[in-house]
Amino acid sequence: MIRHDFSRVDSKRRANLDYKKKQFAKPEFKQQDYEYRLNFYILPPTAEITLEQFETWAINRLKVLSELEACSFRNRTPEETAEYMTSILNKYLPLRSNSSRGQNLQEERKKDHYSHFILRLAFSATEDLRRRFSRLETMLFRLRFKDDDLRERREFVSSLKLEWEEVGEDEKREFGSELAAVSGARNEEEQEWFKVDWERVPELVEQRRVFLKRGKAYVMQREQMSLVVAEFTKRLDEALELTAKALPRLDEDDRLAPILAHLSQSFTAPDAAYSSSDAAIDGLSTPTADSIDAVSQHFPLCMQNLHMTLRANSHLKHFGRLQYTLFLKGIGLSLDDCIIFWRRSFKLMADDKFNKEYKYNIRHAYGDVGGDANRRGRGYTPYSCQKLLTEPLPGPGQSHGCPYRAFTQDNLVALLQRTGINDRDLLKTVREDVGKQRYHVACNRVFEHAHKREIKKVKDDGSWSAVDLDTIVHPNTYFKRSWLLKHLGEGNVGMVGGGEKMEE
Ligand code: SF4
Repeated sequence: MIRHDFSRVDSKRRANLDYKKKQFAKPEFKQQDYEYRLNFYILPPTAEITLEQFETWAINRLKVLSELEACSFRNRTPEETAEYMTSILNKYLPLRSNSSRGQNLQEERKKDHYSHFILRLAFSATEDLRRRFSRLETMLFRLRFKDDDLRERREFVSSLKLEWEEVGEDEKREFGSELAAVSGARNEEEQEWFKVDWERVPELVEQRRVFLKRGKAYVMQREQMSLVVAEFTKRLDEALELTAKALPRLDEDDRLAPILAHLSQSFTAPDAAYSSSDAAIDGLSTPTADSIDAVSQHFPLCMQNLHMTLRANSHLKHFGRLQYTLFLKGIGLSLDDCIIFWRRSFKLMADDKFNKEYKYNIRHAYGDVGGDANRRGRGYTPYSCQKLLTEPLPGPGQSHGCPYRAFTQDNLVALLQRTGINDRDLLKTVREDVGKQRYHVACNRVFEHAHKREIKKVKDDGSWSAVDLDTIVHPNTYFKRSWLLKHLGEGNVGMVGGGEKMEE
């Protein structure tokens, strides 16, 4: 389904491809017509798309799934999740019903269809990824099913031709009292009931919302959603198993492998590349070497830890310096001010040693030296949470990385307390989060606690949407959002730019 505008597949290798693989050599590209908004994703996509669409659509869907996962980690109720997800879905994966009379229905449905299949490829490799993907796709399907237009939903369900056996009048009479106990209604004969194998509706069985007899679950009409959702999950799980088996054949196209690998890594820890819009904050005068102490109260814990260690020791080891320098560059500190900042911070060091051993690395990080290899003069970009959460853990005496991951729970709590976080319930939940390796969830929880009044205000007055308050996955986004929230109503301060976005 990728447009063959160029190919990196070696021609000799192509000629020697296994004959079984040649079925991929001449694919038939065909545009599909999407009659319904909802999709069980039975038919794989067969039309052409560009590599750029392939990647962007997948990243957009991944953003939606990550936000859904964050909602479940935060124990948001279905209603809270639906409210939170509305603007996220509108931005990243809009999908309107036929009755909306939208212009781009087919395009929206195509993007939804293709992005599902791309992520299916990316996340079918391991049992753990498959389970997570299936769980989140099911959540997404349920969310959309609930708010679908009623008539369209009915038509969609009947198009699925699901094999549900209707319960006849005789049976309804025979099990009248049992069915009444399940439904809470008096006259069971007026109710519609379906019979299915009980394994198909585990959710309903668990919640005792069905009557079980001889391996069959008797399900009320109004529980139709659970049936459809269970069927969706069952088919997806089977399809994921099949995809996993077919994965090795993808080796033949090495354009896709790196994209798929990056996507699956982003599922392990959220990813976002730094965008230069993060440095442009309305109302924030350009930071200087002198103002870092003052603005450091808005830094995430990873950077506060580096700042406090630097102040305590008048020194930071190499990786800590690099992480902190790039972050400071990202908040808009100029190269000259950055050099002044480090020079003053290393106050026990002689000028000569600083100039010889340290200054070059700062200039290199800014792209002032280093040539082509150094990203063509732009230097390195500030590190994302994903990078900080997946790189090797810091060794003795080092302070880089993400403290939520690198610190023991007791040391993490002590560090949070030093930054003024003392709420016992919050600290307990942070311990639980990090115990489950949900480091960025803990960080977002701390952020929301530290800014809860301001967040309530911007939500209540509608000046920020859920997209402006989405899950933070980049330290520079943390800073920017913290600064903006703490300076609400001051001059021209407002939400500017979307925070992070993917860059090359
Ligand atoms: Fe920093 Fe991200 Fe860790 Fe928060 S989750 S402390 S922003 S690396």
